Amino acid sequence: MEIIKYDIVVLGGGAGGLAAAVCLSKKLNKNGIKYKIAILDKEDKCGRKLLATGNGKCNLTNYNMSPEYYNRSCREFIAPILSKYKPEKLMSFFLSLGMIFRSDSAGRVYPYSGTAFDVMNILVLNSQAYGADIHCSVNVRQIEQVRGGFKLISDTAEYQCKKLILAAGGKAQPNLGSSGASYSFAKMLGLDVSPVFPSLAPIPCKDKDLSAVKGVRVPCRVTLNADNVPVHTETGELQLNADNVSGICVFQLSRYSNEFFALGTVNGVKTEKITITADLMPEYTCADVEKMLFSKCRKYPDQKNGEIFTGMLNRKLGEFICKRAELDINGYMYSLMQDDIETLARLVKTCTFTPKSLSSFNAAQVTAGGISVDQINPDMSCKKNSGLYMIGEALDVDGVCGGYNLHFAFSSGIIAGNACADSMRGGVK
Ligand SMILES: Cc1cc2nc3c(=O)[nH]c(=O)nc-3n(C[C@H](O)[C@H](O)[C@H](O)COP(=O)(O)OP(=O)(O)OC[C@H]3O[C@@H](n4cnc5c(N)ncnc54)[C@H](O)[C@@H]3O)c2cc1C
Repeated sequence: MEIIKYDIVVLGGGAGGLAAAVCLSKKLNKNGIKYKIAILDKEDKCGRKLLATGNGKCNLTNYNMSPEYYNRSCREFIAPILSKYKPEKLMSFFLSLGMIFRSDSAGRVYPYSGTAFDVMNILVLNSQAYGADIHCSVNVRQIEQVRGGFKLISDTAEYQCKKLILAAGGKAQPNLGSSGASYSFAKMLGLDVSPVFPSLAPIPCKDKDLSAVKGVRVPCRVTLNADNVPVHTETGELQLNADNVSGICVFQLSRYSNEFFALGTVNGVKTEKITITADLMPEYTCADVEKMLFSKCRKYPDQKNGEIFTGMLNRKLGEFICKRAELDINGYMYSLMQDDIETLARLVKTCTFTPKSLSSFNAAQVTAGGISVDQINPDMSCKKNSGLYMIGEALDVDGVCGGYNLHFAFSSGIIAGNACADSMRGGVK
């Protein structure tokens, strides 16, 4: 097997790995000095997942940045990183590479060009310009820490390096390169990995009647309840599918439902049962809805029950609510009783869905769990293994939708790249 020697290898040419490689090569390769730096990626091109972000527009950070947008177990670890790498500082890194931005009213920041391709491309161009080699279609299978560095075995070659930045991502969307290999590598290197589960994903539900509203989208307020206690509420467009509920507002709840199915807890608290309740008319009280329904009955006594939500809700959704209230949609409104109206209004305000299982990693945006952060120093170096740095989604850090995951991937990459370059020059660590 061919042996290829480098000073530093960045394993994974995704968001974090590319940012790390730019910083490394920019800092080390100057004044006629050149270090051998390689990015290895198993896909045929770098940043495949990065290209899919933000619906192809790449929501790369958010002006509203705080540890509370990340999982509880990482907050202490991430707080100093976020205060060092504020959104403005991350943007100034990209600005220095030649990229400008646009933001929206929710504070989400995108490249000005509106294309994720541009973000990937500017990182690749700069890595190469500063002298890093990019090797794609290199599937690393094994890593060993040896005297003076690391040995990485791929299908075709053995790579040797003095320092290693592990940036091989998580398990979400394996079709985009996320093989989950980071966790095996961490174990090979003697590190602890917390159980992993999908996050930011559609939530599979048991409700058989969902198929009747397949394809319906409704602006609403959704809440995840653990043992009937509300845990988290989001507002947004709920998408109803035959066997799951989806939409960004549901993605934000999915960490809790998946924690429940993976660990039997919600926010670390043992939980017996979870439900999702949707308020389909959040701008109105239950009494308002009842009033509207009574007025419908008075105005249209000879119309069918299935018409009672006409002008208020999507037709399929209206019929769905009637059926949940056990009303005959072909019966007539004159026969509706006060109890029926109260039931309908209550169902509109608390339309309940019952999650049935873990979301699929194939549909998830990120991985929750991963390499435990108590093993990592603030400069992203590993406490136990000298010369090893770990960044991005591989770590037990996951954020909500809105640019928080890329913010961490990029910031941790920049921090690791700079720290690794300093230690290379200083010959320490
Ligand atoms: C559809 C979608 C949309 C998203 N949108 C957003 C968004 O708008 N904003 C946001 O903040 N986050 C978003 N995310 C999340 C974001 O993409 C990730 O958090 C981020 O890419 C993680 O960066 P990373 O560098 O750690 O891992 P990755 O970007 O996944 O990079 C890891 C790299 O390692 C390579 N690799 C893996 N195993 C091996 C191996 N054995 N050998 C060699 N190479 C290997 C992979 O091919 C990959 O290129 C989205 C995710 C998805 C799936």
